[in-house]
Amino acid sequence: MAGVQHAYMIDDRELAFDLEGPWSRSIDDKQATYVSLTFTDPTVGGSGYLERVASELNVVAEHAIQHLNHPECETACYRCLKAYGNQRFHTLLQWPLAIPALEVLMETPPTLCALTYSDDPRPWLEAYAEGVGSPLELKFWRLFQQHGFSPVKQMDIRLTPGAPAVSIADFGVDAARLAIYIDGASVHVGHRLRRDRIIRQRMKEADPSWRVVELRAADLARGVSLVEELVYLGSSSVAPTM
Ligand SMILES: [Zn+2]
Repeated sequence: MAGVQHAYMIDDRELAFDLEGPWSRSIDDKQATYVSLTFTDPTVGGSGYLERVASELNVVAEHAIQHLNHPECETACYRCLKAYGNQRFHTLLQWPLAIPALEVLMETPPTLCALTYSDDPRPWLEAYAEGVGSPLELKFWRLFQQHGFSPVKQMDIRLTPGAPAVSIADFGVDAARLAIYIDGASVHVGHRLRRDRIIRQRMKEADPSWRVVELRAADLARGVSLVEELVYLGSSSVAPTM
């Protein structure tokens, strides 16, 4: 971040970053430890700096070294790394540890990778803009709209009125206690799968009970007959068949 600020004369609110890790993994029989740094641009519409940082990371690294490598400072001081906001980490800060990595970055301009489908954020942004949680949910929403079904999106589920929400259904009709979940391929993994199952079971056993409908991508092909079924469930107050 210091390198970015110095290279482009911007202040530290114009870009933000998240550090994740460390993880270790063996590559070619060697144990490697690595971290992930994600830079984000909090400006509405984007300030344009992220693209420059990505394409000129070698320049950023050079500025970072110029900023960090200074006499009479062996770990960190208020001139280089310490700030009021990072007091918790002052004892951990040691700029000399970053120099070898920055020197490698400085030597060659970065290689830009094209976005692959799974990295492409646009379908997700489109889904969020429509108030749903994923591109798959958006497909179901469009199908519902096409056939005149307008459930509530991202509906809080409470086992009894006024109780705290136990779940957020992707779609729901509160009056009919109908909760619809769109289950993507990656959602049901490990502890989360078990937790979802427990909560959905409690919803079915609540008094009055919830009708829980779980849909997968393949259900889109049922088209209008699926929507008719949901409209029926969403408008009726018959006891659910368990
Ligand atoms: Zn210093």
